[in-house]
Amino acid sequence: MDSIRREDMPCPLGCPPGDETVLSGSDRLNGLPGEFTIIKCRTCGLMRTNPRPTPETIGFYYPDTYAPYLDTRVQQPASGPSSRMRTILKPLVKGVFAFNTDRLPPLAPGRMLEVGCASGAFLHRMALQGWQVEGVEFSVKAALAASRLGYSVHVGPLETAPEPDEPFDLIVGWMVMEHLHDPIGGLRKLHEWAKPGAWLVLSVPNIESFEFSLFKGKWYALQVPTHLYHFTPDTLRRALRAAGWEVETIYHQRILSNLIASAGYVLRDNGYVGAGQKLIDFPEHAGRWHYLLYPLAWLLSLSGQTGRMTVWARKAER
Ligand SMILES: [Zn+2]
Repeated sequence: MDSIRREDMPCPLGCPPGDETVLSGSDRLNGLPGEFTIIKCRTCGLMRTNPRPTPETIGFYYPDTYAPYLDTRVQQPASGPSSRMRTILKPLVKGVFAFNTDRLPPLAPGRMLEVGCASGAFLHRMALQGWQVEGVEFSVKAALAASRLGYSVHVGPLETAPEPDEPFDLIVGWMVMEHLHDPIGGLRKLHEWAKPGAWLVLSVPNIESFEFSLFKGKWYALQVPTHLYHFTPDTLRRALRAAGWEVETIYHQRILSNLIASAGYVLRDNGYVGAGQKLIDFPEHAGRWHYLLYPLAWLLSLSGQTGRMTVWARKAER
């Protein structure tokens, strides 16, 4: 704890000084010590955790048990009648349920980079579809799991990743931009690494959703201090534009994981520890619940009120 250093940063969009305090909170995900404040730039509205742990010391808040590293391990495919049934039903299910969690533009396979590839499950999925894939991953352990699958992975933050041999047709980052110390610099770097006309697809939490208004410091997707920036559709567009990207569409995700896990924090704080923990663990074990909750999630997504969004942006053709 003593080894964690904090730094003060101005708004990364270059606005004149002037922020307001939104709230203070602590690490609820892993229960690690430290109190952190979220502030909002008075000029552009972008929210950030400030002061924040420095790039050199933030590793303390990413223990090896950090769930996203474990969830993305590639599972051995099952075989037998039930898996054959799944193969038949899959396209049908995909046609009905559009969760928008990792929704991609329709593209012919080419070169893809995943920023924050964790243990490599998404790289693997895309490679099976004919994509030539590469990754960047901050966690040594997770990156090792991904490179063991045979993929080229830069171990370390995006900031230190070397320029690729060839530019990319598609760059993705699932729930990763909010973790970057220098999101605008990172987006600029990705813009340089993209072919003209290439796509960038990112997902981030949406702090403008009713979930945040309802749960405030208990909102599951707040995740201080690992979430350094807290985007709204508007501030996400501003950040992308500042780095040269043209925003095409923002999809609101149709899952309610944040909502349910946030309710778990409320229960736990009120003494219902067992029941609360079950709901907090929901995002990691939602399974078929995603399908049952889909109608409600779909309804909320219409007005942009679910807690996560997926953006499609493009590099200009010339
Ligand atoms: Zn600003």
